[in-house]
Amino acid sequence: MVKVLVAAPIHPDAVKMLKDAGFEIVYEEYPSVERLKELIRDVDAIIVRSKPKVPAEVIEAGEKLKIIARAGVGLDNIDLEAAKKRGIKVVNAPRAPMRSVAELVFGLALALLRRIAYADRKMREGEWVKKKCLGVELHGKTIGIVGFGRIGREVAKIAKYGFGMNIMYYDVVRAPKEVEEELGAVKADLEEILRKADIVTLHVPLLESTRHMINEERLKLMKKSAILINTSRGAVVDTEALVKALKEGWIAGAALDVFEEEPLPKGHPLTKLDNVVLTPHIGASTEEAQRRAGIEVVKQIIEYLKSS
Ligand code: NAD
Repeated sequence: MVKVLVAAPIHPDAVKMLKDAGFEIVYEEYPSVERLKELIRDVDAIIVRSKPKVPAEVIEAGEKLKIIARAGVGLDNIDLEAAKKRGIKVVNAPRAPMRSVAELVFGLALALLRRIAYADRKMREGEWVKKKCLGVELHGKTIGIVGFGRIGREVAKIAKYGFGMNIMYYDVVRAPKEVEEELGAVKADLEEILRKADIVTLHVPLLESTRHMINEERLKLMKKSAILINTSRGAVVDTEALVKALKEGWIAGAALDVFEEEPLPKGHPLTKLDNVVLTPHIGASTEEAQRRAGIEVVKQIIEYLKSS
């Protein structure tokens, strides 16, 4: 019988799919490396999320192991070299969180531009801050999308069809003409986007070429009225430079879901600023994204194990 080790919580519908396929499920949440080495010995597949880590010693202990699945995006917790050496397939679900992250971008934009988070904070302190809450609309504004991949394009869709915004994007790769036309998206270089956009939103992966892509020099190019949204990876922004920009009013505000250090350390300078909205890396934390992630990887496991 095919045996699957589920080493992190996945959506119940995905568990049901495994059962319906006739697979035996071994469930243990976030086992240690030592425990994983025991559990993996006689399973055909393992499913993880951002945890637990699957290092070479675990992969080598999986005598029957054929496939490793990450129910989510990114494979940084899996030793890909070790898997490749043993001919073990590694899969993930990169499209699963696309819509959830894109929707969060607008949640953050509205929370900042309409001062929702600030007003809520003050209401709880018993303050009626109506006069300090003059906001701006999204309609007719320009959004600059940095990284025009899966999430970047979904953001563009909502910006265009939901809010009637103008769209500029920057990417190392040019999007197909049909995509540009459908979304009315204009490609520009990063500096031009920073100079013109009312909202700059980051959707690049973290690579050497994108680390601290948004630094002091580039923050200075942005309009004083513009805001920066980061739901990509914390280190795409130089946090120290951003704090300076926010304190000195080079930009109007920032909304951040990701940080150079996670969890964000208690009492961090960002937490002291009113022109900032902060969320604890919740881009993919929706019922739908979790379900899609589980189902996408389980489908791949079933297909692979039934055909091998
Ligand atoms: P994707 O690979 O589909 O798109 C990334 C785009 O960035 C690509 O079009 C690529 O060409 C472009 N790019 C790469 N290097 C670049 C550079 N140096 N300059 C300009 N463009 C560059 O990725 P995606 O699925 O859209 O994910 C985007 C980001 O969102 C990633 O950083 C991912 O880790 C992050 N993410 C965050 C959450 C969250 O919970 N906040 C959830 C999922 C994904």
